Amino acid sequence: MAEETIFSKIIRREIPTEILYQDDLVTAFRDISPKAPHHLLIVPNTLIPTINDVKAADEPALGRMVTVAAKLAKEAGIDEDGYRLIINCNQHGGQEVFHIHMHLLGGKPLGPMLA
Ligand code: 5GP
Repeated sequence: MAEETIFSKIIRREIPTEILYQDDLVTAFRDISPKAPHHLLIVPNTLIPTINDVKAADEPALGRMVTVAAKLAKEAGIDEDGYRLIINCNQHGGQEVFHIHMHLLGGKPLGPMLA
């Protein structure tokens, strides 16, 4: 059984965090340490530690993460200029919180991905 992270507490609203979106599959909130004017995190409500742990049964939640990212980008008014979606995996990917999360970054030109 994977160990819960702070994100499970945020999803269950056990610690004060502004929830930007929540449904039966996913939750979205602002990154505590933003790397761009808009930096949101979109997470599955169930604990999946890394992308390596994804099963076919998780596909609805992972798909919802993308549609919610697009919805939140539009609401933030950054859809036309564009934005970046990132999911880090394990050490080389730079993953620090072991509950899958999609970063939505935008609000300024982000430059090349691998500079
Ligand atoms: P990773 O490096 O795992 O892809 O990204 C983890 C992200 O979670 C980081 O950008 C970090 O700032 C964010 N983060 C870590 N702890 C918290 C928290 O308690 N609340 C929020 N809103 N974001 C967090």
